[in-house]
Amino acid sequence: MDPKVILQRTFGYDDFRGQQATVIDHVLNGRHALVIMPTGMGKSLCYQVPAIALREAAVEDSPLTLVVSPLIALMKDQVEALLEKGIDAAFINSSLTREEREARYQAVANGQFALLYVTPERFCKPEFLDVIARRRIVLLAVDEAHCVSEWGHDFRPDYTRLDEFRKLLGNPTTIALTATATPEVQDDIVQQLGLTSEEMKLFHQGIYRPNLRLTVEQVWGDDEKIARIAQAAEHQLAGGSGIVYFTLIKVLTSFSERLRANGIDHVCYHGDLQRDERRRLQESFMGGRAPLVLATNAFGMGIDKPDIRFVIHADVPGSLESYYQEIGRAGRDGQPSECVLLYDEHDLNTQMQFIAGSNPNAEFYQRVYDLLVRNSEQTAAFGIEWVEQKLYGRKATDSRLDTVLGMLQRHGCLDRGPENQRFDIVDEIAPALVDPERLEEKLQRDQRKLYTMVQYAKHEGDRKTFIHEYFGLPVKGT
Ligand code: ADP
Ligand code: MG
Repeated sequence: MDPKVILQRTFGYDDFRGQQATVIDHVLNGRHALVIMPTGMGKSLCYQVPAIALREAAVEDSPLTLVVSPLIALMKDQVEALLEKGIDAAFINSSLTREEREARYQAVANGQFALLYVTPERFCKPEFLDVIARRRIVLLAVDEAHCVSEWGHDFRPDYTRLDEFRKLLGNPTTIALTATATPEVQDDIVQQLGLTSEEMKLFHQGIYRPNLRLTVEQVWGDDEKIARIAQAAEHQLAGGSGIVYFTLIKVLTSFSERLRANGIDHVCYHGDLQRDERRRLQESFMGGRAPLVLATNAFGMGIDKPDIRFVIHADVPGSLESYYQEIGRAGRDGQPSECVLLYDEHDLNTQMQFIAGSNPNAEFYQRVYDLLVRNSEQTAAFGIEWVEQKLYGRKATDSRLDTVLGMLQRHGCLDRGPENQRFDIVDEIAPALVDPERLEEKLQRDQRKLYTMVQYAKHEGDRKTFIHEYFGLPVKGT
């Protein structure tokens, strides 16, 4: 069936957006694709529509599209949305009970499901490989493909085995998707999949949207920032919405108080709020009842509102990747929209502290690891505070411990349950975590990313060109 008909009949949308139609045609012709599209633009349809089309086209068997995704929570939401639309989809991950899991394996073996979502860890389970071998895999979709990159904050060690998995599946047509990737990360993705850049075509629209105006305004101190935000709130909402991004929650809160004192109505969104509260705020924003939001980068997923008239950054973000993601939410309706970076050199300190907190050295990794190994009883009884006390002699003032715990868990060395319930060391420390050269390289990369933001802020020429060059996109006129 024609992709457009599937879009309308199954998904209820009139038209494809941006490059969706081109990508879908490409994939349906059996060719590999790397798709870079801002969050909320509709990457999922790029593999969901082909999955349905390929399933419908098959006469002799019932082929399967396998979707590799790193996040268990998102997987569930996606599958529920598909089921509501009458699409035969399922996920298999560690959140299932044993009985549920076995029932799903059986269903897969019996030819059920057009789409199956799994985490990459699933490929380590022989039972999974057994049932998957009984199906023809027509399409492999690798979502959040930037997770292959060792240098990003989202690195998943299991993503580096995708090459092996592709081979196991019989080298199916492959589509990798992500919101941002520098040329370096793009190369990583293609290579980790065992493909070449000739074989895997890049689809990346960039931000040459003529309606977006990108500016940097040099400011000194908070008063100037407040004045600028107030001005935007009063004159630039134009019946639509605006977002002001902050790096730190405490700065966001203090700005909020001052704006409120100036009579500027708004809501605040950040990671310290309860889930329900966050959902409620997001709905008010999407429904236009809360046109102005002050937010941290926690505000992003599912923010697909056409009439966002401005995105102001009240301080400098840590990388052009995040900046690009966040401003990509402005002006999706094609109407004039502003992307303003308020640049105060002092704000770089915050980012430098972030970099320090997310780059502990090998010695620190080893110290935390040894501490957890030797004191399992104390950590079980007294939790994270005890670990902090031991390490720092007081409550932690930087985020190095957080980083170490997160990385140990991601590398499968630590089991801590949801919300730091346990600190059980379950494996040797991963060599990558105590390799000084590698850690040094990661630190330098993070520093270079921040330096790129400084260069962007100081850039005198066209800002869209600067961004396009950074992402290795063709530089063309607006
Ligand atoms: P991404 O993975 O790029 O962040 P999603 O695939 O989750 O984005 O899609 C974001 C939202 O956009 C979803 O609600 C989706 O249904 C919607 N969407 C996607 N494509 C279209 C389209 N062509 N027309 C209208 N809405 C769309
Ligand atoms: Mg997505």
